[in-house]
Amino acid sequence: MAFGSSSLIWFRKGLRIHDNPALDYASKGTAALYPVFIIDPHYMKPDYNAFSPGSSRAGLNRIRFLLESLVDLDSNLKKLGSRLLVLKGEPGEVLFRCLKQWDVKKLCFEYDTEPYYQALDVRVKNGGKPPLTYQSFLKLAGEPSWASSPLMTSRSSLPLVGDHGDCEIFEVPTLKELGYEDTEQEDYLTPFRGGESEALKRLRDSLSDKEWVAKFEKPKGDPSAFLKPATTVLSPYLKFGCLSSRYFYQCLKDVQKIVKKHTSPPVSLVGQLLWRDFFYTVAFGTPNFDQMKNSTICKQIPWNDNDELFAAWREGRTGYPWIDAIMVQLHKWGWMHHLARHCVACFLTRGDLFVHWEKGRDVFERLLIDSDWAINNGNWLWLSCSSFFYQYNRIYSPISFGKKYDPNGNYIRYFLPILKDMPREYIYEPWTAPLSIQTKAKCIIGKDYPKPVVLHDSASKECKRRMGEAYALNKKFNGLVSEEELSSLR
Ligand code: FAD
Repeated sequence: MAFGSSSLIWFRKGLRIHDNPALDYASKGTAALYPVFIIDPHYMKPDYNAFSPGSSRAGLNRIRFLLESLVDLDSNLKKLGSRLLVLKGEPGEVLFRCLKQWDVKKLCFEYDTEPYYQALDVRVKNGGKPPLTYQSFLKLAGEPSWASSPLMTSRSSLPLVGDHGDCEIFEVPTLKELGYEDTEQEDYLTPFRGGESEALKRLRDSLSDKEWVAKFEKPKGDPSAFLKPATTVLSPYLKFGCLSSRYFYQCLKDVQKIVKKHTSPPVSLVGQLLWRDFFYTVAFGTPNFDQMKNSTICKQIPWNDNDELFAAWREGRTGYPWIDAIMVQLHKWGWMHHLARHCVACFLTRGDLFVHWEKGRDVFERLLIDSDWAINNGNWLWLSCSSFFYQYNRIYSPISFGKKYDPNGNYIRYFLPILKDMPREYIYEPWTAPLSIQTKAKCIIGKDYPKPVVLHDSASKECKRRMGEAYALNKKFNGLVSEEELSSLR
């Protein structure tokens, strides 16, 4: 079974053929190439105790997106004379067995180990001290040279797949084969299909309107637009590596060469990609980035431990239709506009409920199809005013913010059909509708749809007061607030 010079590419993220340095390296000077993906059944196993379908780690939509991406990867590999070898089991064990059996001399996966990238990392991480603001990050990163370095050349074939001996090879499983019921699948069907082919199509479609790209200003996008979202929805493809961020960046730069007058970071599309890199950089260089405890950058805040309020938020039953519709979109689609994410994250934490950001982070981490460790934690730190952003007096109103974009409440009517007949003047505050109107709209507040779990005006005032106290304590103890001092504010 010895092949002398076999290589194995272990796909984890980076589920693509285009601009894939690991695949490129693996296929150079090798007689046989084993393109492998390992399904860890534990990660995929349905968890019937969870509050919505999926495994304990990932919602159904993200599992589906991954399987679609694998089917597409297999099909693209086949076009090049190769195929995807799906293995099952605990990844460390399975891989070790195959490496031995196939006599693999070169194991490749996506990780920046080259000295060039290591040196670049050191420079961007500012000598081990990551930049903590977007502006200082931009100064250090400058015109990122990685982003303008040449793309990997496209190829017309790949080395043949070697004999797989005794190692059991599978096709990409279906959701049903993983144990998911058809009914669950219909109710939780994101409109975004996984895979490199879809990623490249979406990228082409987004960039075909050059004026739109040139004028892109993130804060001006409409968070309630769902039939045609106001942003690219490329995040899930970037998350799974179905799309190379370098290729995306270079395509944007090409548009800028044609349309000279264009927006700039932080609000432009290039600026969005740099936000991604900003959070990656800080996350990589900050110990305990994903928690409040023992973090050097996270304010210590005495968050509430109120499971009832948390469950109402998580399950989309706070009684604020704008907030609940966003949470339903999260459950059903696994994707929401950035400003919609702002609203629900602010509401859960420093805006209304004063619940710990780590709890909200966990819900997003499981349900988002673009769930990304560095970006998700970074944004939760931001929105809860725990790090990066400190203007805790600026709170999103769960009533007037959405109304500004969508006065008729079309977004709410779509994601919360129980409110579809509520007249326009009450759609954001249905509890204020007279009983006769509620009856006519077939939606009695308190019975068919919940009453607000808190009153926004008083709850947000109380949150500001508590944030003020916590900030004062952090200042006094220079961020090193003990558990005891924190408890005194609870
Ligand atoms: P576009 O506006 O088209 O931007 C293009 C790309 O830029 C995105 O695909 C993404 O890769 C990057 N980008 C855009 N905004 C940000 C940002 N604020 N921070 C970092 N990168 C950004 N994004 C994730 O990809 N994964 C997450 O887990 C995630 N969790 C979030 C949690 C909270 C509480 C908030 C407020 C935001 C979160 N975001 C996350 C950031 C952002 O909301 C999404 O990246 C964006 O909405 C994705 O849509 P898009 O691809 O259409 O974005």
